[in-house]
Amino acid sequence: MPQTITVKIKLLPTREQVEILTKMSYEYISTINTLISEMVEEKKSTKKTSKHLDSFLPSAVKNQAIKDAKSIFSTKVKKSKYKIIPTLKKPVCVWNNQNYSFDFEHIYLPLVLNGKAKKVPVRSLLIDKENRNFDLLKHKLGTLRITKKSNKWIAQISVTVSNEYRNGTKVMGVDLGLKVPAVGVTDNGNTKFFGNGRKNKYVKRYFRKKRQRFGKEKKLHAIRKLNDKEQRYMKDQDHKVSRSIVNFAIDHQISVIRIEQLTNIRQTARTSRKNEKNLHTWSFYRLAQFIEYKANLAGIKVEYVNPSYTSQTCPSCSKQNKAKDRKYKCACGFETHRDRVGAMNIRYAPVIDGNSQSA
Ligand SMILES: [Zn+2]
Repeated sequence: MPQTITVKIKLLPTREQVEILTKMSYEYISTINTLISEMVEEKKSTKKTSKHLDSFLPSAVKNQAIKDAKSIFSTKVKKSKYKIIPTLKKPVCVWNNQNYSFDFEHIYLPLVLNGKAKKVPVRSLLIDKENRNFDLLKHKLGTLRITKKSNKWIAQISVTVSNEYRNGTKVMGVDLGLKVPAVGVTDNGNTKFFGNGRKNKYVKRYFRKKRQRFGKEKKLHAIRKLNDKEQRYMKDQDHKVSRSIVNFAIDHQISVIRIEQLTNIRQTARTSRKNEKNLHTWSFYRLAQFIEYKANLAGIKVEYVNPSYTSQTCPSCSKQNKAKDRKYKCACGFETHRDRVGAMNIRYAPVIDGNSQSA
């Protein structure tokens, strides 16, 4: 089933463009509010076209405003039998997918300059250094909404991702952990370790120490700011790790990524995961979500598996063994780095029905 997602892109408009965008987004919502109140008065949908509207918006944007107003009227006002009459308060301006385009550094869209609509480039961080939105270019694009959020101009593009997965049968198992944030092993045995668990531990300890100090000094505001900063750091790490996992999968023509099902991660009593279990469960969940999101955009399916294995199960003969030091050895002759074993087993573990992650 296709899914619609919103991709957020930071814009870097010029001072002149800021002025125009501000004016247009106020005009856009006031046009919609006027149309809705007219329709409420007449008790029927409007027949107006862009010609009937005397706002300075480009006609493409006027048409979008009429479409939005009609949709609000039929889905909210009429359905509630005129009990709910919404008034838009947050300034926003919307363009449909035939009216904007982009390249690697700009979004091109019609703005009104000196009374004339003209397609102009607005600088954007569409393709940032992690290539977060790169796969977006390949899918069906919907409307573009521009709005201001905490003093930053943001473009929200709705993207319909058809779940047309790539052909092929190549599988990669991904094991999530603390010591190593993620280990990926392909069915050919190609292995990659993602993220830096030691650094994360160090950063967490740094934040904890600082928090304790602020706690003694009763600096509550400083603690809150510190927590936000830590959250941002961890989230950014998850973005980077998931990006590299998906890139690695693309490089190796993987069509399915398998990850341990979350509820089972919670039950897995690996020594390193005993403490702060809920917190870790949440961070595994977020990382899994990021992987799934980026993988889907690249046409790679994500499947959740039942860990009927443990990281002690021999991937070759299923015997249970304890790893000594960094080496995992089995009587059958199989041996490997201990941190690969989990991901190797995940590759061929039973896939959970419905294939969805439950929180
Ligand atoms: Zn064995």
